[in-house]
Amino acid sequence: MNIYDELWSKILGELENIFSEETFQEVFSNLKSTHKYQNGHVYVLVPTEFDKNRINKFYLSKINDLAKKFHKENIRFKFVTEAELVPEETLVSPELNLEFKYRTGNLNATYTFDNFVVGKSNLFAFRTAMKVADQPGSVANPLYIFGDVGLGKTHLMQAIGNYILDQNIDSKVLYVKADSFIDDYTSLVQKSKMDVFNAKYRELDVLLVDDIQILAGKTQTQMEFFKLFDILYQQNKQIVITSDKPANELKNIMSRLTTRFSVGLSVDIQVPDLEHRIEIIKKKLVTESSNITDIPKEVLSFIASSFVTNIRELEGALKRVLFYCLTYNIDLNLENTKEALEPLLKTRKKSNSLNENNFDRIQSIVSDFYQITVDDLIGKKRNSKYILPRHIAMYLIKINYNIPYKTIGSLFGDRDHSTVLAACEKIENELKHDKALELAIDTIQKKIASINHI
Ligand code: ADP
Ligand code: MG
Repeated sequence: MNIYDELWSKILGELENIFSEETFQEVFSNLKSTHKYQNGHVYVLVPTEFDKNRINKFYLSKINDLAKKFHKENIRFKFVTEAELVPEETLVSPELNLEFKYRTGNLNATYTFDNFVVGKSNLFAFRTAMKVADQPGSVANPLYIFGDVGLGKTHLMQAIGNYILDQNIDSKVLYVKADSFIDDYTSLVQKSKMDVFNAKYRELDVLLVDDIQILAGKTQTQMEFFKLFDILYQQNKQIVITSDKPANELKNIMSRLTTRFSVGLSVDIQVPDLEHRIEIIKKKLVTESSNITDIPKEVLSFIASSFVTNIRELEGALKRVLFYCLTYNIDLNLENTKEALEPLLKTRKKSNSLNENNFDRIQSIVSDFYQITVDDLIGKKRNSKYILPRHIAMYLIKINYNIPYKTIGSLFGDRDHSTVLAACEKIENELKHDKALELAIDTIQKKIASINHI
């Protein structure tokens, strides 16, 4: 017995304990030995495609966890059918194969449900996405996923696509960023290559459009998207859309589109809490196929508490720490982690304080202009003398810095998201016909600009 067969039989022993006898017999009883070891993967042959999918979906992560437990090097299991082995074994460079993450439909194969760590902030979104992937076209159409940047919208959306493709390789899935859709509109529709455009989009079973807010102001592209949406929707083809805001807050997108977005189901993704962020880091350690498995607790907590609002940044920080310790061949401990992250934390501090100062400045410029105090500007007084400047200040912070409404609310005595949103909309509407207001805002903007340039 080679070491991989030995490992596999240990794992089988554990699986037998974990799962019911029936399940174990049904799924694993025919898989006594391994086929080969290559590139960090132990291959096990399975009789059918069905067995393979079943194992990949329900048991693979457990198997890999056990492999980690029993084997000192980081290896993973791969279940393949005989048919798949032939082309794979003739590959000139199997390493290249590992690097190749993209698959049909413009999907990134690493964005799977398996790799998505679930917590309170994304539980509902995750469950809904799973259901949609399981029964495309019939659970929620469209599925509209929104949330701030770096919180996993793209990951979740592509996980739906990957899952559907895993189930049925012939399914026509396409992931497209809204800006590529605009490009396709200009290079195909406007250049009368309608047949190419239609072949790409109208034959799809599943359309995933990322960052729909980018269509703002692009009226013609929106019209084309509207047509496409209706065609796919009428045929029960699944549509998934992501955005940085709820559909009813999208600006400069025609209302017949935004109302369409609301007919399905909207789910949001929030910022994960500390424990959840720690779990995400742990998961990334496994999926990055790094050799580090026992990272000290205090290192995990330090990274997770330093990067709060954006998982992409959290991931970047982790990679930086790993790379730093590896390059200098030093221990992965708290001290070295702090050292590795110092430049990131420093610049962030600087830009944060700059922003906070800028928000303060806008508040004091607006207060000066209307001759009220900053306390009254951000306070609770409901007199119109204070309300208008308050709304203007909120509006100006939004348009100058585009930070979330919630954050702006916190700068104005903890007002909530909807209050700030209403204030901004009110100013925007009044600006359409109130020349005096336009002039006032213009004057204030100039002051803000001149101070910012000092
Ligand atoms: P968004 O599209 O919302 O800006 P992404 O989907 O691009 O965010 O996510 C940014 C990074 O964070 C990706 O590398 C993604 O894999 C990772 N990520 C986000 N949420 C999770 C999660 N819950 N579990 C694991 N990784 C996550
Ligand atoms: Mg994204």
